[in-house]
Amino acid sequence: NREIHLASRPVGWPTEDNFRLVETDVPTPGPGQIVVRNQYMSVDPYMRGRMNDVKSYVAPYALDAPLDGAAIGEVVASEAADIAVGATVLHGLGWREYSLLDAAAARPVDPSIAPVSAYLSVLGMTGLTAYAGLLEVAAMKPGETVFVSAAAGAVGSLVGQIAKLKGAGRVIGSAGSPAKVERLRALGFDAAFDYHDGIRESLRAAAPDGVDVYFDNVGGDHLEAAISAMNLHGRAAICGMIAQYNATEPPAAPRNLALVIGKRLTLRGFLVNDHHDVRAAFLRDVGGWLREGTLSYDETVVDGIENAPSAFLGVLRGDNLGKMLVRV
Ligand code: NDP
Repeated sequence: NREIHLASRPVGWPTEDNFRLVETDVPTPGPGQIVVRNQYMSVDPYMRGRMNDVKSYVAPYALDAPLDGAAIGEVVASEAADIAVGATVLHGLGWREYSLLDAAAARPVDPSIAPVSAYLSVLGMTGLTAYAGLLEVAAMKPGETVFVSAAAGAVGSLVGQIAKLKGAGRVIGSAGSPAKVERLRALGFDAAFDYHDGIRESLRAAAPDGVDVYFDNVGGDHLEAAISAMNLHGRAAICGMIAQYNATEPPAAPRNLALVIGKRLTLRGFLVNDHHDVRAAFLRDVGGWLREGTLSYDETVVDGIENAPSAFLGVLRGDNLGKMLVRV
């Protein structure tokens, strides 16, 4: 068994030196436990925050211990009555080839319905974040203009497509390269721009009638430009602020927060884990769109647990189109 440990805590941008590949024995299950041979693990921006030793909504990673995060794999040993060897399960102990778990901490899924990786992307936490953030937190209504940042990423690409499928009038996305902008147009975004060309000007040109809903994955300059472009009673779902995850100084933007008053804007932060009440509607809608072929999802797959740190650095840099995954 090979696993990735946190070797040191980064200051600013992490490097490969903050991680260590460690070899251990394949674990054996005790009573009520299972061992999972992982097939895919999720690589998520929020993991950067867990590398810092600070109090947050989720505990920091411990030094000299394996990192963790969502993963999916096949049960190879079981001492639990309700999960058999051969079952496919979703769980939270990724960053290792073999995971030892209490059976209660694993959720069996049906690998015949969808490719197993989809349970970590479009059908998993990523998809629910997009769905709940857009429809519950921002309460998007048909006909509205929606702007989403990091739009070619895992959450953002689903936000834009779900907005169209739910009747948005106009959907605009920003991303970090011309190739990503081209992909957004292919996915059905009405307008897309490379934020290196200037966020404020590009957004004004793309949304001449203003923005009603902003889905924020980035914060900073993106949030500032969105506040300037938002219409009266506009709503922003504050999902992530990746522009500052590696910052060593507090961000300068947004400098125009006072506009929130006159425009009566709502800026609402959320965590996906508070929105499991919409899971049934989410699975019904997304399952239907996938069957019809009206919803696409991109995945960027990096092979090998030894390359998980580089996949993680890649998601922070923007190497990914859609969901960043490691095939373990
Ligand atoms: P993505 O697949 O979107 O990957 C992150 C992307 O962010 C990169 O591909 C990169 O794309 C972009 N990016 C990186 N740095 C910057 C920057 N300085 N300015 C603009 N864009 C940047 O990740 P996820 O879909 O997994 O997550 C998206 C956001 O949602 C993150 O902020 C994450 O923390 C948050 N999140 C929040 C959840 C919640 O419950 N609130 C749940 C899940 C995710 P590019 O090439 O375009 O720069």
